[in-house]
Amino acid sequence: MLKNIKDLTLEELTEYFKGISQPAFKAKQCFKWLSAGVTDFSEMTDISKDLRKTLADDFFISVPEISRKQVSKDKTVKYLFKNTDGTYIETVVMTYKHGISACLSTQVGCNMGCKFCASTIGGKERNLTAGEILDQIIFASKDMGQRISHVVLMGMGEPLDNYDEVIHFLKNVTNPLGLNLSYRHISLSTCGLVPKIEMLMKEKMPITLSVSLHAPTDEKRNQIMPVNKKYNITMLMDSLKKYVDYTGRRISFEYTLIKGFNDSFEDAKKLAGLLKGMLAHVNLIPVNEVTETGFKKPENVNRFKNWLIDMNVNATVRRELGSDIDAACGQLRKKEMK
Ligand code: SAH
Repeated sequence: MLKNIKDLTLEELTEYFKGISQPAFKAKQCFKWLSAGVTDFSEMTDISKDLRKTLADDFFISVPEISRKQVSKDKTVKYLFKNTDGTYIETVVMTYKHGISACLSTQVGCNMGCKFCASTIGGKERNLTAGEILDQIIFASKDMGQRISHVVLMGMGEPLDNYDEVIHFLKNVTNPLGLNLSYRHISLSTCGLVPKIEMLMKEKMPITLSVSLHAPTDEKRNQIMPVNKKYNITMLMDSLKKYVDYTGRRISFEYTLIKGFNDSFEDAKKLAGLLKGMLAHVNLIPVNEVTETGFKKPENVNRFKNWLIDMNVNATVRRELGSDIDAACGQLRKKEMK
């Protein structure tokens, strides 16, 4: 079976070109074309016909199909992409004052089993490859005719459960010959796979690490996030303190507010205790009411935020973009599969 040429990093592509007695600058030209969104080798006009033929014999160029596109009142765009193997993934593009941000998927489905999340309902079908992760931004950007400057790995899947492909993707998307995104404009969100957090720390990539905490005690976190039974809050916080010491970068915590479960003053106090003295920020997200889960969002989200701020915790409430188009948490893919 042919390999998707976009799964290679520039270094790997250069190695391949060397192997077929081609100079490194040809690999660079080819890499540029791929990031620009060509759909066929014939579009690489500064590469000779013979060389294009060799490339086409060894590789294919992935071209996801836009299976559905929805635009919300606030200009949030949600894509349902169909991969070459017929699987579906979701990508959401949000427009902010500071730029355009894409929320990318890293897996088809997810194995983590968080109780409030729609993406995990059918389990994980497979990992996405580096090229397929990159394709979401390439083809969303091409469709919108606008540059996407920011990336959050907060779509379907657990990025650190697909470690190698995600690292390859990060290298390619930040490559100056490619989309040239700044590491500082990229966030990676994890449910807390401790050994992988420590691996990521050593990559020395100045991205923002977001951690889905969602509950301040093991007793509560165990109920909604099975991963906590493997890596509990103490293990998680220890690894995050190491991460902050090593990288000097603050951690962004995601805390989904669920009515009557984790939204009391007691919860806020425990959360503040956990984060005491740590370089951290809390992003509060009113739970997205997925039909299957039965969780409800609290009426008053700011109350919890203000409690945290009073206890010297840096906290903000995430703006809810695209709520009129189900632009959250695997809901569109689920509808398509039905
Ligand atoms: N697997 C990664 C990233 C994907 S989910 C992680 O767990 O962090 C991105 C964020 O959306 C996570 O914080 C996740 O917990 C949250 N999320 C998932 N379903 C949600 C829902 N129904 N309402 C609110 N947030 C949700």
